[in-house]
Amino acid sequence: MCGIFGYKGLKNNAGHIVIEGLRRLDYRGYDSWGIGFVSKNSLIIKKEVGKIGDISNSQYLPNSHTAIAHTRWATTGAVTRINAHPHISTDKTFLLAQNGIVENYQELKAGLEKKAYSFISETDTEVIVRLIEDALKTQKNYIKAIRFIYSKLIGRNTIILLRKNGEIYAARNGSPLVIGINTKTKEIFLSSDTLSFSPYVNKMIVVENNQIVRICNKNKIKIFNMKNGKISQYKLEDMTIKVSQVNKAGYRHYMIKEINETPQAIKQIINQDKNKIIELSSALKSADHVYIIGSGTAGFASAQIAFYLRLFGNINVISLVGADARSYYDIFNHNDLIIAPSQSGETADVIEVLEFAKKKGVKIASIVNMPGSMMTRMSDYPFMSSAGPEICVMSTKIFTSQIAWGYLVAKTVQGRYKKGVKNLEKLTIAIRTYLINKNNHKIIKNIAKTLIRKSHIFLLGKYQNLSIINEGMVKIIEATYKHAHALPAGDLKHYAITLMEKGILVIIVISDDIVKNDLITAINEIRLRGAEIIAIAHKNQSIFDYYIPTKDTKETDAISNIIPLQLLAYYMAIKLGNNIDKPRNIAKSVTVK
Ligand code: GLU
Repeated sequence: MCGIFGYKGLKNNAGHIVIEGLRRLDYRGYDSWGIGFVSKNSLIIKKEVGKIGDISNSQYLPNSHTAIAHTRWATTGAVTRINAHPHISTDKTFLLAQNGIVENYQELKAGLEKKAYSFISETDTEVIVRLIEDALKTQKNYIKAIRFIYSKLIGRNTIILLRKNGEIYAARNGSPLVIGINTKTKEIFLSSDTLSFSPYVNKMIVVENNQIVRICNKNKIKIFNMKNGKISQYKLEDMTIKVSQVNKAGYRHYMIKEINETPQAIKQIINQDKNKIIELSSALKSADHVYIIGSGTAGFASAQIAFYLRLFGNINVISLVGADARSYYDIFNHNDLIIAPSQSGETADVIEVLEFAKKKGVKIASIVNMPGSMMTRMSDYPFMSSAGPEICVMSTKIFTSQIAWGYLVAKTVQGRYKKGVKNLEKLTIAIRTYLINKNNHKIIKNIAKTLIRKSHIFLLGKYQNLSIINEGMVKIIEATYKHAHALPAGDLKHYAITLMEKGILVIIVISDDIVKNDLITAINEIRLRGAEIIAIAHKNQSIFDYYIPTKDTKETDAISNIIPLQLLAYYMAIKLGNNIDKPRNIAKSVTVK
């Protein structure tokens, strides 16, 4: 989940440039960071634990034209300065940073130790460094050495390597890697995502899996096929992200900015190519089995999309969590279809399933926000959310746009595409009106004040709102570090009712649908035992202890119900003084298993 960044150019402030790039990447991991650069013909490393460094301290960063950088989300070895990347070769001729996990690193390390190699850190990264050192003894050049060592690594790993002579190498296997080019200044950037270099470049190249990049000292890019060593042709694509999209635009946090961008994100769904949606809907109708697979928030988006496909499309859809799809591997067949919603399009758990399924001939559809992702490239039916960058580590507008997309696809399967578009248009207006109403924020802020005093928070919902309360739970856990527990309202009496007593607060989401009365029954059962209710509903009732009003958007009601839950998590995090855009321990795009 780490972020990798590299720069080679004419400017002599490479250190500053890579630190600036790292700042834009730190949603990927932010427990420690490091940079490495060439200065006066030797390699220098600076690394630290904690927040990315102060770029104003230029003494810290001597002049250099070439540098690499890394922000770490530790998987192997504690969060220490020594374990932070980059790591250096024994003879100090190259530096390396890694995004991924070498699953067999212990075995490889033992083999290297037998050959008398020693290690300074506890990381799997240093094992890659020593393997390359060793390979360079028998292989003629770095490309050959990198190819050689990749045949020994198990796991998904992307690396960036800086040689003392100023050349940069990078290799992709799994975790993302993109190249940015400023065609005027001839500067070249390498990164884990396109956002991080968006202010500086006008062209980009998406490095494919199993490719090795070499940037020589004349700033020429060569890409090699890792399997056969041959030169691969590449395509220069236009850089479409604008600088204005990657700042806070006057908002206090990215999270609230992005919640406010929800109407625009849904508009982008309405503007999707109708023919592509119709094509997918016919594929869905003729598939033997349809699976929707996602992880974390996208896992709950998957469940909601599956709900819509069952309800409107009459299709028997199964939704799965990426990390737990293993038992379906033998069941997948070539007439099946998998839908994968993902912000980054790089989620390792999901990609692993897709790779397996693809080999069995399963068709893949995806809805991804980040341009140039692996999932998009693997897809037979690729869709882009086109919602603009989502920088807060907690997903908000992308979740909402994914389920809006699922709703539209389901309506298309039902033969009611136009109605679907109309309802989404109404939804866009309803969400915008909701968000600009100051009273809504005031009510939610007040309830947030009460909720932060609780150690346990329950959420109940049913039918169309079940995945919505699950996602509400995710937001509360991520934003507040408090224990939240979402459960189907009807299941309450089977076990969680034992926890209902005075002092407990339960959030309940109610739409005017066929299950409304079941929720009222649950409320009564809860209140009888002394617990209190926060209702998110269209009309206030005397059985509610706290009330958050919502407007009935009918078929799309569940989609609009996520907004008050997201706001609740946001205002709770503010009151708790938490790091809202970067909650502890999590990273935005989970590119390791
Ligand atoms: N395995 C490396 C480490 O622990 C990289 C981790 C990652 O990419 O998340 O430092």
